[in-house]
Order: sequence, then C-alpha cells, then structure tokens
Amino acid sequence: MARDPNACLVCGKKLVYYNEPKEMKCEFCHKKFMSYACCEDGHYVCDDCHEKEGLEVIQRVCLKETGRNPVKIAQKIMLDPYIYMHGPEHHVMVGAALLTAYHNAGGEIDLKNAIAEMVQRGRQYPGGSCGFWGCCGAAVSVGMFASIVTETTPLSEKTWGWANEATSKALAKIGSYGGPRCCKRNSFTAMRTAAEFTEEKLGVKMEMPERIVCGFFNENAECLVERCPYHPDSAIPMA
Ligand SMILES: [Zn+2]
Ligand SMILES: [Zn+2]
Repeated sequence: MARDPNACLVCGKKLVYYNEPKEMKCEFCHKKFMSYACCEDGHYVCDDCHEKEGLEVIQRVCLKETGRNPVKIAQKIMLDPYIYMHGPEHHVMVGAALLTAYHNAGGEIDLKNAIAEMVQRGRQYPGGSCGFWGCCGAAVSVGMFASIVTETTPLSEKTWGWANEATSKALAKIGSYGGPRCCKRNSFTAMRTAAEFTEEKLGVKMEMPERIVCGFFNENAECLVERCPYHPDSAIPMA
C-alpha cells in the first residue's frame, strides 16, 4: 500500500507537535498513551504500531545481505514502503545495518541474535527524542551497536567508555548540521561516524560510499537542501 511517508498513517494529513504530552488513543491498537504528536485531525498512531512492519523489513533485509557498506544496506531498507520518511524504526535500522556490515566485514558476532537484540533495544527509544530529549535515536542506535558487538554492560570498563563515546561522536556530528530533524540525514551521519569509530577501536573496516546522495528529499517537507551534506544540491562537504 502506497502512503505519504511524511504524514498521518490514517488520513495523510500533517502531524502537529505539542509542548506538553496529551492523552491520545492509538488508531490501530486502541491503547491509550501520553503523546506530543498527532495529525491535524487528531489521529494518533503509537510507536509500536508505527514501526511494526518496518522492524520485520529491517530484519529480513539484513539477514539476507552480504555487503559491508552500512549506508547501502540502510538505503535498501529505506526503499521499503513500511519504512516511513521519519519514524522510530530508524532507531533500530541504523544499528541493524551497522551490525550487518560489521558481520560481513569480518566482525565476529552471531548476526541473527545481534539483530534480535538490536530490535529489542532500539524499539524502546521513543520517536521525537531528538527534539524533546536532545538526543537523536540514530546516535543512540550507534551506541547500542557498539554495546552489542563488544558485549558491554553497565559494569564493563574499556568498552563502556567506547559505547558512550560512539554515541557522542554520532550525536555531535548530527547536531552540527542543525534542524529540523531528518531521520535520513541523521541515519547517514550516524553510520559514517560509527564506521570510523569501529575501524579505530575494533579494527573492523566497513565500506563507505565516497559520496552519499539522498534519494528521499522530495518526501521531506523540512529538508535542509543546500545545508544538508547528502542533498544533490548540497553546498557543504560530507566530511
Ligand atoms: Zn490523520
Ligand atoms: Zn498502537
């Protein structure tokens, strides 16, 4: 089913954000939630319902993949109609694409288990946290990736530092471009910093495209255009 990926999943109208959460009922599962966003007509779809099919797509694509380039893997996943322009499914997708590329580049992990773990962790991170908590989920997904491949826990020593550093590097770069948010821009940026960090700390070299060109700017009403390093008309370098 084709849907406008930028808008309400029920009626296609624009989303509105509030400064304070309001009680809303999910149009799909009918559970009640406190949320900051609904569409102009008041429809609300909870994070779980929003990302349900998308999470299955992510796992299916990753487990069949043989490539070592996390950005290419993510771009493949992003083409699926169940991956919307923006949404919390990106909090799983970034880490899953990284785990897949890491595994295919020689990183020693059980990919199936690692991705299942990524889904469990990533789906807990709420949509909209970039704006409301000051911490984009694509960066957190990098931290989850780093934690999973190093089997880090709160009691770990060296790798505890790495996981937190990995998130911070991604987040700093994401923040440097300014807003409004774009889940595509943030995902690409997070994967670039993660690939660098993984080579430096873990000695596993993933591939990166020489230039990342975004194919989704037409679907994003808030695209930064020349201020985005991935827009074809970008005025700033990718580095
Ligand atoms: Zn609606
Ligand atoms: Zn729901």
